[in-house]
Amino acid sequence: MNGVTDVLVVAPHPDDDVIGCGGSIAKHVRDGARVTVVIVIGRERSALDDAVTDSQFAAETQAAAKILGVHRCISFDEPSRDFTLSRRVHLDLVRVLREVRPQVVYLPHDNDDDVEHRMVHQLTTEALWMAQSDFFQEAGERPMPAPRLVLGYEVWAPMARFQYAEDIDGQIETKVEAMRAYVSQLRHAAWDEGIRGLARYRGALSAGSGHAEVFQVLSLSTHPSAGVPGGDRD
Ligand SMILES: [Zn+2]
Repeated sequence: MNGVTDVLVVAPHPDDDVIGCGGSIAKHVRDGARVTVVIVIGRERSALDDAVTDSQFAAETQAAAKILGVHRCISFDEPSRDFTLSRRVHLDLVRVLREVRPQVVYLPHDNDDDVEHRMVHQLTTEALWMAQSDFFQEAGERPMPAPRLVLGYEVWAPMARFQYAEDIDGQIETKVEAMRAYVSQLRHAAWDEGIRGLARYRGALSAGSGHAEVFQVLSLSTHPSAGVPGGDRD
């Protein structure tokens, strides 16, 4: 194939990328893709998190990205609970899209239980359109070509229906290990075992066994390999 496949993952908060599509990220990396993660909102401020400093938390995020093999992790650091969908934040994402020019894009599915996840879904679908248009020159002059594939992942609300399942049997331990890098989050709940259980359930549901991540297909080009991990292989 000509050139490296670029993948962009938009995560509302640190660790949403790991939970939603960490196995698929590791699989893209295995296949030689370059994965960029954008984390839109900064860490949640709660009394439970007071024991962790900002730099410790940033180190957890970096460690998780390294385990998955993420090429670049960009934090917008928008304020949690005060996050609004401004023109500025749209343009920030358009700028990244026009720079990375991803063939595959991951974002939260459209009906997650968390309001900030739904906002980031809306932000990303809008920015995808903006980045492909001839307008918004202040966010980069060259419009982005349409991605081959846009997939919605699940975090806090399992999807009742999905259109695509990715087999992550070979990546489940990497995904769990990346989750374990978020030591501060595991103090609240056993998310590492939670994501293993969800992947196991999705594996049974989609293939009868193994581990899987499932997705809402939000946009799919007619390109034959469509950009899924392994799709560029012969
Ligand atoms: Zn989140």
